[in-house]
Amino acid sequence: MAAATLASNLQIVAARPCISLSPGVFKASSAILGLNSKGVSRTKLTSSCNVSSFEPSRHRFISSAVKFNKVVTMAMSESSESRPISGLPIDLKGKRAFIAGVADDNGYGWAIAKSFAAAGAEILVGTWVPALNIFETSLRRGKFDESRSLPDGSLMEITKVYPLDAVFDNPDDVPEDIKANKRYAGSKNWTVQEVAESVKQDFGSIDILVHSLANGPEVGKPLLETSRKGYLAAVSASSYSYVSLLKHFLPLMNPGTSFVSSRGSSISLTYIASERIIPGYGGGMSSAKAALESDTRVLAFEAGRKHKIRVNTISAGPLRSRAAKAIGFIDTIIEYSKANAPLQKELSADEVGKTAAFLASPLASAITGTVIYVDNGLHAMGLAVDSPAFKDLNIPSDKR
Ligand code: NAD
Repeated sequence: MAAATLASNLQIVAARPCISLSPGVFKASSAILGLNSKGVSRTKLTSSCNVSSFEPSRHRFISSAVKFNKVVTMAMSESSESRPISGLPIDLKGKRAFIAGVADDNGYGWAIAKSFAAAGAEILVGTWVPALNIFETSLRRGKFDESRSLPDGSLMEITKVYPLDAVFDNPDDVPEDIKANKRYAGSKNWTVQEVAESVKQDFGSIDILVHSLANGPEVGKPLLETSRKGYLAAVSASSYSYVSLLKHFLPLMNPGTSFVSSRGSSISLTYIASERIIPGYGGGMSSAKAALESDTRVLAFEAGRKHKIRVNTISAGPLRSRAAKAIGFIDTIIEYSKANAPLQKELSADEVGKTAAFLASPLASAITGTVIYVDNGLHAMGLAVDSPAFKDLNIPSDKR
């Protein structure tokens, strides 16, 4: 397959638009079409679950946003509670995280939420408005129960799901056709500023902010063929959305209390196309990721000086997320990574989740302004070792 074709399918997030609304609004993949973002009435979670300790009756939706009765998630297993903790546990107990960009149980946002929950944090999520209804319905029907399972046998609790569209900062930014669209009209207060205000009203503060979203309507086009509108849309949805989220959430974020234990922390997700040529990661998405990484450094300085908040980004390897699958060639990219990375294994979302939990924890109290690679080391390679040019070299490989 041609290199350009292969590369065009690299773990792009979201490149496929979401709904056909109007110019400037993305079209949805079939999986998220036909959504109706209406409030959820009081409904008991009735589905069964494969996890033996799960008690369906404990879980209940209690408002228009998905809200479960809180079940405390312990970071340590029961057996370890009774004895002194050894090692360096990641402990996020008492912390509250807002994770923007969770709409199913396949992506990095979900895995990060689970790792945070396993470490004891309270979880709030921001879900893209067009995907809200199906996400809430799936949660309510127990579709995610198996993947909500945590290492101690409990289930991840999402305290509240907020509708969010991160390309709009406040209601004045929202065009009339979006306001009138039924997928949006069924939800309220979903611009970034309004979501931050709602979280403040509901909970007062947060400790951890995660940006796990991206979108580029022209991702399939080479940069030379990308329109101004497509380029700016990619940067708006994938980079400025982070600046906006941090700007509006920063006043709610509990600041660091000392140099030893910085409490507040923020994390985004980036991709190697920001700094290396990945032909086909187009439509301005590579530019958007480059901006995100540069912004990470500047925001680390500004948020660090102003609020003692740490800001980092994780450069993740390929994952079969909904967005990446919609592009079509994610399997090939995963195979490429397995063939060429120093570590010949498939990356799991969980590995990114655990890294995020570490970065959010006091163990990472001196880490800020950094790009952390979680990609089996692929970023370090200078060439593709599965090239026929190297067939006579004795390069150690699982396939040999
Ligand atoms: P995903 O589909 O799970 O997450 C993308 C999310 O963005 C979706 O939930 C989608 O609903 C949301 N979204 C899109 N536009 C939005 C908007 N305007 N407002 C609010 N939410 C919006 O896919 P993922 O691959 O887990 O992506 C998460 C992050 O990881 C992205 O930043 C992506 O670039 C990055 N990443 C992914 C890969 C990969 O191979 N999947 C690799 C490196 C980095």
